[in-house]
Amino acid sequence: MGRYTGPSCKLCRREGMKLFLKGDRCYMAKCAIEVGRQTPGMHGHRRSKTSDYGTQLREKQRLRRMYGLQESQFRLFFERADRKEGRTGEILLQMLEMRLDSVAYRLGFASSRKAARQFVNHGHVLVNGRKSTVPSRQLKAGDVVQVVDRPASREYVKPFMDAAESRGIAPWVSLDKAQARGEILHVPSRDEIQPIVNEQLIVELYSK
Ligand code: SF4
Repeated sequence: MGRYTGPSCKLCRREGMKLFLKGDRCYMAKCAIEVGRQTPGMHGHRRSKTSDYGTQLREKQRLRRMYGLQESQFRLFFERADRKEGRTGEILLQMLEMRLDSVAYRLGFASSRKAARQFVNHGHVLVNGRKSTVPSRQLKAGDVVQVVDRPASREYVKPFMDAAESRGIAPWVSLDKAQARGEILHVPSRDEIQPIVNEQLIVELYSK
């Protein structure tokens, strides 16, 4: 299945929660979820009983859509997480957060993960001083992510860094706004990723 190119807000309405796919708008009162727009489709308002499988599937879709991954990419991430020692669900979340595009988003280099992916793709980001154009690149503690020293690139990120800072920068990264530079202080703990989903349900889904 190809990449979803429809309206972002429709995905949030489908999942019944904010997935933060549209930047500033997601923090405004006109966000479709804040406004209380119902689930898309003719029967969107209906609430039917959901099976265990349905609940697990929904949880997986929420997380996958939040990070803008296709099913095959998401599955790959899960399999990699599953091979590591520790709690698979937690490791999966950590791996998703430690993607270069996700870190760039957390640092406020773009308004959304989707925009951050494009920003990385187009060569505006350095990792440890070297250009990196792979949004899925896994970063590690101590890595330094910086916007290239080009006036247009630095200008572009300013308002997003301001907005990210006013909302609060994630505790596991540090941001030097003047240099458009951030550092990963440590791998985020489960608490620092926030309880966005019940990752155990995703583990159960893929363990069938
Ligand atoms: Fe989702 Fe953002 Fe649209 Fe709200 S504004 S429904 S959070 S994409």
